[in-house]
Amino acid sequence: MSTTTTEVLEKEIETHEFHKELTVADRCDCNAQAFFIVVAYGQDLYYCNHHFRKYETKLREVSTYISDQSDKINVKPSQSSPD
Ligand SMILES: [Zn+2]
Repeated sequence: MSTTTTEVLEKEIETHEFHKELTVADRCDCNAQAFFIVVAYGQDLYYCNHHFRKYETKLREVSTYISDQSDKINVKPSQSSPD
């Protein structure tokens, strides 16, 4: 007699890089620097502040996760130009 153990398959949580820090290399469609990661339709979408605000209502409806890194907008890399 064989018993089949039906193990409850632990659903693996997709590990997107949610805590990924956006860099200057991450761009919105408009080519501006992205400050928001919106996870929707299984994709990570990158938005600049302007376009995120523009589509915010819709994005919040369809997204499963939003990473708001807009606080970085005011954080400029230290510039060492003594003007
Ligand atoms: Zn944009």
